Amino acid sequence: MDELERFIEGLKKRNPYEEEFHQAVEEVATSVMPWYLDHEKYRRAQILERLTEPDRIVTFRVSWQTDSGEIRANRAWRVQFSHCLGPYKGGLRFHPSVTQSVLKFLGFEQIFKNSLTGLPMGGAKGGSNFNPKGKSDNEVMRFCHSMMTELHRHIGEDVDVPAGDIGVGSREIGYLFGQYMRLENRWTGVLTGKGCAFGGSAVRKEATGYGSVYFLEDVLKQHGEEIEGKAIVISGSGNVARYAAEKAVAKGAKVLTLSDSDGFIEVRDGLTVEQLEFIHELKEQWRGRISAVADEFGGVVYHDGAKPWGVSCDVAMPCATQNELDVSDAESLIGNGVIAVCEGANMPVTADAAHLLRDRGILHAPGKASNAGGVAVSGLEQSQNATRISWSREEVDRRLREIMKSIHARCVAFGEGKGGKVNYVDGANISGFEKVAEAMLAYGV
Ligand code: GLU
Repeated sequence: MDELERFIEGLKKRNPYEEEFHQAVEEVATSVMPWYLDHEKYRRAQILERLTEPDRIVTFRVSWQTDSGEIRANRAWRVQFSHCLGPYKGGLRFHPSVTQSVLKFLGFEQIFKNSLTGLPMGGAKGGSNFNPKGKSDNEVMRFCHSMMTELHRHIGEDVDVPAGDIGVGSREIGYLFGQYMRLENRWTGVLTGKGCAFGGSAVRKEATGYGSVYFLEDVLKQHGEEIEGKAIVISGSGNVARYAAEKAVAKGAKVLTLSDSDGFIEVRDGLTVEQLEFIHELKEQWRGRISAVADEFGGVVYHDGAKPWGVSCDVAMPCATQNELDVSDAESLIGNGVIAVCEGANMPVTADAAHLLRDRGILHAPGKASNAGGVAVSGLEQSQNATRISWSREEVDRRLREIMKSIHARCVAFGEGKGGKVNYVDGANISGFEKVAEAMLAYGV
């Protein structure tokens, strides 16, 4: 049995039933193991073994009341994975699929993503199995207030700075932040993704989507291609998907699809700016389903109960959730001539599908690199809050563009692939890991 197999077997024994976490660690370990074994100093310090054990996990009950007066209880977590590079940083996810395993995989990924941004941020993630879908504003508010009543004692601007993720947008951040202030009686940048009226940063809402398109632009350029004129299939219709679509359209690409958990819309000539504006309003104001776009506009076809990966395209951007793109989806994309898969979501491609993409020479940008723009602008929001200064939209966007460029350059430097193509998965993992390993070594045991 080789070193990698031994390591993964030990990990599975120590963390039974945590499949998503195993998958995320195995991907990183596969990339870093040859490099790790070459560096006796890291190996002797057991960096990889120590790094796969979170610093701590806080688990708690969140009790709240429905509008009809019933009492409900949900489970919530904050996984503080590693603060080697700065205060813990990472989003909160509200979704029925949230488990400890899901949050551990996300917290683990966040360590490397945050490292890649070059900003001083550690890795964390949190959330609850609470389902905001179909809940009233007041129910969501009561849930958020109750959650913060416990969470507030574990966070702080120099300790742990949560933000949004799936199911947690500016509405939820507002309720959480309000309760934090009520409990602590002070204004501080303890959460990011705040509304611009109360300390939020320009471009934070758009940052993950915009950043992933900036990254895609660099991936294509590196390989002699350009984004203009490319046909792009996007999944999801949340913040990431919508702003990725908006930026891609602005750069002259054709965005053929968006989706939600019920189905996808297909627009043969590509989404228009007017349609995107309608979709922003549909999601933010009415919290509606994506099928409504086909009712509103001619030329938009709704495919009920299907995923968009069968639509022929040059680039696929999975921007919905983990493991949404499997082997058969990857086969369809390859069969239709896809050249790049650029992840807007975290770990949206299954392990087998990722291997298939690599074996067929498809460029594959992993989320920890390509979707790092969101947390990068969160880092910029922290800096603005700490200095009580607000930067302009142009200033934040310029810094975001630079950060995405430097992440791309680091992936290229560490991700030598076959046939002149960059192996972005290896590049992101090794480059993100190296900085954390250096810090851990410096701190001693
Ligand atoms: N949830 C986002 C992510 O997956 C953003 C985290 C943050 O801004 O702290 O990176």
